Amino acid sequence: MKICLAGVNNQMGQKPVKILEPQDFIQYEQRLRLMKVAIVGASGAVGQEFLRVLDEQNFPISELLLFGSKRSAGTTYTFRGKEITVKELQHNDDFKGVDIAFTSAGAGTSKEFAETITKHGAIMIDNSSAFRMDEDVPLVVPEVNGEDAFNTPRNIIANPNCTTIQMVVALKPLNDISKIKRVHVATYQAASGAGAVAMDELVEQYKEIAEGKEPTVNKFAYQLAYNLIPHIDVFQDNDYTKEEMKMFHETRKIMHEPEISVSATCVRVPVLRAHSEAIWIETEQPITPEQAREAFNKAEGVVLVDNPAEKEYPMPLFVANQDPVYVGRIRKDLANENGLTFWLVGDQIKKGAALNAVQIAQYMIKHKK
Ligand code: NAP
Repeated sequence: MKICLAGVNNQMGQKPVKILEPQDFIQYEQRLRLMKVAIVGASGAVGQEFLRVLDEQNFPISELLLFGSKRSAGTTYTFRGKEITVKELQHNDDFKGVDIAFTSAGAGTSKEFAETITKHGAIMIDNSSAFRMDEDVPLVVPEVNGEDAFNTPRNIIANPNCTTIQMVVALKPLNDISKIKRVHVATYQAASGAGAVAMDELVEQYKEIAEGKEPTVNKFAYQLAYNLIPHIDVFQDNDYTKEEMKMFHETRKIMHEPEISVSATCVRVPVLRAHSEAIWIETEQPITPEQAREAFNKAEGVVLVDNPAEKEYPMPLFVANQDPVYVGRIRKDLANENGLTFWLVGDQIKKGAALNAVQIAQYMIKHKK
């Protein structure tokens, strides 16, 4: 049995020395300080992924608290062999002593509870769109702008939109070769992007159709089984959807490139998990496919799968549950002298949500000032 003594010293002051249990023993080189962590929205698609990712990443946790609405309060989930009961999120002092709160319960809940969550010093890493474009809230993808995570006047860090996270991880190494001026992107977004219930609805629709029944349609505007829906989030005055405009605005903020223009068409596809994107970029100087492959090969968080002769390219079926963003089908854009086109796939519940949020926390631990 391995036992070590860990001196725990957080923002709120010195905590008593803790004797670690065997199950929460962590490697010395990873971190001595254990943290009190909360997940808000634990029962959801992203919340459930947080439980898996925190464990997979061996995140240094002394205590894990789970929160939800009345609906899931009282449900128990197992984390590192321990049963934890979901508490109802309320305006009280439940977040006292919490170091990091990972929130994924929708923008309305994040806005309503931000003060309750952060008032005792917890850093809230929020998956919703509530604060992403606020000037005093950093919007962070560690491979691109990890340092921004240290500028948190409101104790809030926003996790970007899933399609944007996946895209900027791939744009960064190309932008380092030559500045990107324009991006055209078509997304192919999995049902689970709309939450756990939406994923269940797609599975159910295929069953119902096979049984000759009328498919149940609740979460999407139309039947998704055997269909594509070019409509994600609400339409804006310029006829783009909010999802498409998130890609426009968030890319500029994360990459610190206010001139990049992103024109997106976001499409819901009958895939359970992992979003795909067809991307065309225009750069100041042309980037050859060979240069791009070399850059992707070296880039953090990217895996290159680009061997058309052997039918090797990324696909959501094989990328689901994986950490990196997979890139392939790299070609010169035949319609643009300075253009390059490629295809990428990432698990949007992992890198597009829970994993990116946990990586933000890891970045802050590793680079603590
Ligand atoms: P989901 O599966 O529908 O889960 C929603 C979660 O929010 C549930 O755990 C629910 O708890 C909780 N919740 C709702 N209202 C609440 C309240 N008033 N108080 C406390 N908890 C409340 O949705 P999801 O896909 O996980 O998405 C959650 C957030 O992450 C959204 O903001 C979404 O935009 C964002 N996001 C999702 C993805 C994705 O791929 N799914 C990717 C990136 C970002 P109960 O079960 O108790 O109601």
